[in-house]
Amino acid sequence: MDFFNRIGDTIASATQEVSEKAKDLTGVAKLQYEMRTKEDFLDKKYLEIGKMFYDANKDVFPEEYTELFDEVEATKARIEQLKEEIAEKKGSKTCPKCGAIIGNTAAFCSECGAKIGDIFEEEE
Ligand SMILES: [Zn+2]
Repeated sequence: MDFFNRIGDTIASATQEVSEKAKDLTGVAKLQYEMRTKEDFLDKKYLEIGKMFYDANKDVFPEEYTELFDEVEATKARIEQLKEEIAEKKGSKTCPKCGAIIGNTAAFCSECGAKIGDIFEEEE
């Protein structure tokens, strides 16, 4: 009788161990999920810091940032170029003051309010 009781206890404790491990795994998955969420959050914060640093230092920046800042400037210029090309293809134009895409017949820029006709006349 004692023998069967002991087997019963062993089975019971083994079952409990398995369910404890399953609980542990759920715990691990939860921790891993939180870790990934925190890593994503950190990436966003670094991005924010980078943008803030760039805006605050774009005129005078530490020498070791030259390459990065040049790449940012070149990319921004290319984006402006692409915006203009896209606007042209779509039969619209970009505001010469702020770069917003505006309709071909628009008299004012919907973004900055610049009077478009005047600006174009000034340019000609
Ligand atoms: Zn504008």
